[in-house]
Amino acid sequence: MRLLLQFPEGLKQYAMMHAKKLEQEGNEVFISASPTFGACDLSIDEAKNIHADKIVHFGHAEFHKADFNVEYIEYNIDAPLNMLDRALPLLNEYETLGLITTIQHVHQLPVIKEFFEKHGKKILIGKPYGFAKKPGQILGCDVGSAASIDRGVDAFIYFGGGMFHPLGALLNTTKPFLIVEPFAEKVEFIDSYRKTYKGRSKGKILKALDAKRFGILLTTKNGQHNEALAKLLKEKIEKAGLDAEILVSNTFDFISLGNMLEFEAFVNTACPRIAIDDSDRIGKPLLSANEVMEVLKIKAEQKAIRNQVMTP
Ligand code: SF4
Repeated sequence: MRLLLQFPEGLKQYAMMHAKKLEQEGNEVFISASPTFGACDLSIDEAKNIHADKIVHFGHAEFHKADFNVEYIEYNIDAPLNMLDRALPLLNEYETLGLITTIQHVHQLPVIKEFFEKHGKKILIGKPYGFAKKPGQILGCDVGSAASIDRGVDAFIYFGGGMFHPLGALLNTTKPFLIVEPFAEKVEFIDSYRKTYKGRSKGKILKALDAKRFGILLTTKNGQHNEALAKLLKEKIEKAGLDAEILVSNTFDFISLGNMLEFEAFVNTACPRIAIDDSDRIGKPLLSANEVMEVLKIKAEQKAIRNQVMTP
């Protein structure tokens, strides 16, 4: 079989090892060297261009039905659990805890649950909304496993590395939020980021109130492509008397966007995290769909007030 292997950034270091194994099994193997952001980002165009029979996508569970033959190889990582002892005294005042993690550690949730239960805690594990597949699993764009149990818990524990995944869950919940990073050996509450990101969102909205020309980002990535939303936003912006165009790319490059000087603000319809995590990579407001709707609402209110003042 002619295979195209695709690895997320953290697993690219093992690409050759897997390629060799599949070659020994009689396959012809190619490795995608493009950036890979998730199972939403299958290299279908590359696979078609090299006439591959199948994409073998490592490290993620299926996200979205693709019009191509794809095999998903999930990657379990057994992280050390010694940081749980450090987390425990920080959770003294909380009785019911919500546990969340990424796909790589979701198999460790039963052991982590047992650990906290042995120390008198009640543990809740929520269900994802749809893109993520397993109870307790979160994605940057599916934090249902946390949001669905927000009311029932006193605090959250995210077990895993980095800030990308917990940040999405943090911004969609209201309770104290502890991250336990087993490899970086870090245990800390990250609640203060809620205020930081709320402030950033307000700042973007205020700045975008002066914009008259909007660029709407539409990605060709199979699991992120949302042309209907891009068209709807264009229509809403134009109805408000402003200009908008739809900008197409597979992976948006912020230098190229910066070169598009006519646009005074950008609106994201691709991975929802772009408008949150990358908003300061371009010197112009980079808004989510909700944020641009807020901008249009405020503009309409301002216009109504101006008209009232001018009416004799
Ligand atoms: S957060 Fe973004 S990159 Fe990650 S799975 Fe969701 S759409 Fe893809």
